[in-house]
Amino acid sequence: MNKEEKRRQNKKVAGKSLGLYLHIPFCEERCSYCDFLTFPKVPFLHQGYVDTLCRDIVLSREEGIFEGRTVDTIYIGGGTPTILTLPQLDQILTTLHSLPLDIREWTVEVNPGTLSDEKLGLFIQGGVNRISFGVQTMDPGLLAFCKRTHRSETVYRDMDRIRSRGAGDLAINMDFIYGIPGQETSHIDRDLAAIRVLDPDHISWYSLILEEKTLLDFWIRQGRAKPLSPDRELILMERAFRGLEDLGYDRYEVSNFARTGKVSLHNLKYWTGQDYLGLGLGASSYLNHRRFKKARGIGTYSKEINQGRPAWTEEVRTEDDDLFEGLMMGLRKLAGIDRAAFRERMGVDPLVRSRAIFEKEKALGLVDWTEETLFLTPKGLDLQNEVLMDLMEDFHLS
Ligand code: SF4
Repeated sequence: MNKEEKRRQNKKVAGKSLGLYLHIPFCEERCSYCDFLTFPKVPFLHQGYVDTLCRDIVLSREEGIFEGRTVDTIYIGGGTPTILTLPQLDQILTTLHSLPLDIREWTVEVNPGTLSDEKLGLFIQGGVNRISFGVQTMDPGLLAFCKRTHRSETVYRDMDRIRSRGAGDLAINMDFIYGIPGQETSHIDRDLAAIRVLDPDHISWYSLILEEKTLLDFWIRQGRAKPLSPDRELILMERAFRGLEDLGYDRYEVSNFARTGKVSLHNLKYWTGQDYLGLGLGASSYLNHRRFKKARGIGTYSKEINQGRPAWTEEVRTEDDDLFEGLMMGLRKLAGIDRAAFRERMGVDPLVRSRAIFEKEKALGLVDWTEETLFLTPKGLDLQNEVLMDLMEDFHLS
């Protein structure tokens, strides 16, 4: 497809809003459980990468991707974006401001201890209105086990600094993990006690996924660490989630909780099948029902971008793949899938394609629906994997 054809195609989406994700693939250390696309201890690569990422942003604009669209949410994630220097972050923010922005939410991921006053000032001035802290646990022993580079006191210090700056409009998310080997309910209680004091607007509390080829995987295979049983994990999850609800947080997605009006608008785009553009190494995009992935090799990514090519490939997908993904993501929200919006987007009511499966799951008390929505029941949320397995089978994906 030549540039003119691309421009014409992009024009068909005139008036749409767009989410934008930027990937910063650098960290101070690699955490023991992490298999993300990130490289620790390579500061000599940072400036070249930032130059290429900025070129990627400009190239996307030149390709016409933003024509007829405004970017209303930005998420700068990684990795650890705040590992970059002040001038490098400034360079990225300045380049972003060359895009058509009408920002409702702009998040930067931060590891505790990496947000200097200068970087905080730059973010606030640049339009960032949400900080997402990777806290994971407030227990010193578990932090060490996870090979996190911060201490629990660092989180208090960072929050004091943000609040004493009067940055009251800055929404704060904190990520936590349950299911770490050795984690007890007392550790969860400690996390909840910290949340009570720190009072963030939003909490993402994910279960630890044991990924292959991580240090944790190696430790487990060597017998140096023991994974928690599913029953133990369930106990920790229930303790955490009940505790958050007692603190007044509303659960609105399987692992996400927010104060009123503080849900993550960017992440909602993922869960409701809205368009987003991912720039940077390995980033995914979902545009007009098509999915693209940027190169995962830093050499290939840089070479392609610097030669004026977008460095992405399109995933081969069927309509059924798109539909299944829409159902799977939509059912993660407690409010479920808005049937009219889904029909508008996908051309079909979410109940139609797998009616027999949903009827069966309704009889088991896992799923329910009204004229407006299709949603998992509380029992269905706990047994979400069973619902997804049935759906996968129906879509011949298992
Ligand atoms: S800080 Fe985040 S991205 Fe970096 S290694 Fe740890 S978990 Fe992975």
